[in-house]
Amino acid sequence: MKQDVQVLVIGGGIVGTSVLYWLTKLGMTDCLLVERRQLTSGSTWHAAGNTTYFGPYAEMTRLFAGSIRTYLMAEEESGQSVGFHQTGSLRVATSERERALFHSFEAKYQSLGIPYHVVDNKQIEALHPCIKTAELFGAAHTPTDGHVDPSGATHALAGAARNLGAEIKRQCPVESLHREGDGWLVVTAEGEIRARHVVVAASFWTRELLSPLGLNIPLYATHHQELITESIAEIAALDHEVPAMRDSYVSCSVRQEGTGLLAGVYETDPVFWALDGIPKDFKEELFPPDTNRLMPHLEKLMIRMPAFGEAGIKSVNNGPMCWTPDGLPLLGPVESCDGLWLASGFNVGIGTGGGSGEYLAHWIVNGKPHFDLPIVHADRFGNNITTDVAVESIKACYRQGYRLPDEIK
Ligand SMILES: Cc1cc2nc3c(=O)[nH]c(=O)nc-3n(C[C@H](O)[C@H](O)[C@H](O)COP(=O)(O)OP(=O)(O)OC[C@H]3O[C@@H](n4cnc5c(N)ncnc54)[C@H](O)[C@@H]3O)c2cc1C
Repeated sequence: MKQDVQVLVIGGGIVGTSVLYWLTKLGMTDCLLVERRQLTSGSTWHAAGNTTYFGPYAEMTRLFAGSIRTYLMAEEESGQSVGFHQTGSLRVATSERERALFHSFEAKYQSLGIPYHVVDNKQIEALHPCIKTAELFGAAHTPTDGHVDPSGATHALAGAARNLGAEIKRQCPVESLHREGDGWLVVTAEGEIRARHVVVAASFWTRELLSPLGLNIPLYATHHQELITESIAEIAALDHEVPAMRDSYVSCSVRQEGTGLLAGVYETDPVFWALDGIPKDFKEELFPPDTNRLMPHLEKLMIRMPAFGEAGIKSVNNGPMCWTPDGLPLLGPVESCDGLWLASGFNVGIGTGGGSGEYLAHWIVNGKPHFDLPIVHADRFGNNITTDVAVESIKACYRQGYRLPDEIK
């Protein structure tokens, strides 16, 4: 293992490997990524892999768009499939206000070169025969997004970065880090590493890892549940995959999985995990499912998509999801610690990881990112936010689900 590098990345999920990939693409090949266990060991391995282009924040859309592009580049360079399903997505409008907002985003998508149309109910039915449109006001349709295989994408990024000269060390937990000279001394279970820059992409582990430096990073984990149905005859009969659907009233996303459906639910009263610290022996476990909590949402979903209710449930995954108080990631330098960078706090890390890696790598290599995105800056919460305040804020974000914020940036 290298012991003296320009950049050390901590964490081998979709975000850490995206940062590593983009660093090497931009010519910074003296890099090492260390991972506590295996690549994808955190939240990445159990994610549904949804990568939509739709989002209310114009600048964030560049991270989403950059992600699919990044995964496909890594696929080509590594030979490892990222399992991209270009199904497109429908963000259904459940009110006149939503439809008007969807129309107001048209110019933004046009300027970003992303295909985007507001479609009517008839077009929704043609695209997705399982959606009942009686109470809808059309939908925003992004035909060129879809979902990837998160594990395939992570390994493609890792493989492509390795081809360009980066090193990846698994089973190598970082125990501590501190400033030394003009860089960092990082203590791992496998020995010490010196690095000019350290990127912490350790998701909900980041809070504890950095607290000895006097940093109060407001990252906490909630449960997040998704259900996968048995095969559905209406889906199996189609000769194409249906688009993903996202619905603010149901607070749920639904995409095709095989010949069944996969639904991810944003519950009204989210359950937090490990507020006092991530258990030292946590490996890749999932939590026991709790479908009772999902019932209010599933009842609404069965009205919107009766086929979902008629199918049996094949499996339920309940895994940890990392949150910041405003639901956006922490991306950029920690101003009080020269050479320390955050790439943590992602709750849609598959959707935004690839583009975020590109954004941060530009900042590290060129001294500034390739576009401005102050809403994700790493220091925006200051150092004094309490756990109670952060938890209340996260609850509000989580239950917001797919409802558009009052203020559209
Ligand atoms: C059920 C479910 C479904 C989801 N579906 C989607 C989806 O469809 N689309 C989407 O965009 N997002 C989805 N997500 C969220 C997504 O999984 C995360 O946003 C994403 O995986 C975060 O990636 P990451 O690299 O930041 O974190 P992680 O994947 O958690 O990676 C962090 C890594 O850091 C390592 N690490 C931690 N501490 C140390 C240390 N001290 N030393 C070395 N390594 C360390 C960990 O082992 C881990 O591998 C879903 C989440 C859940 C729970």
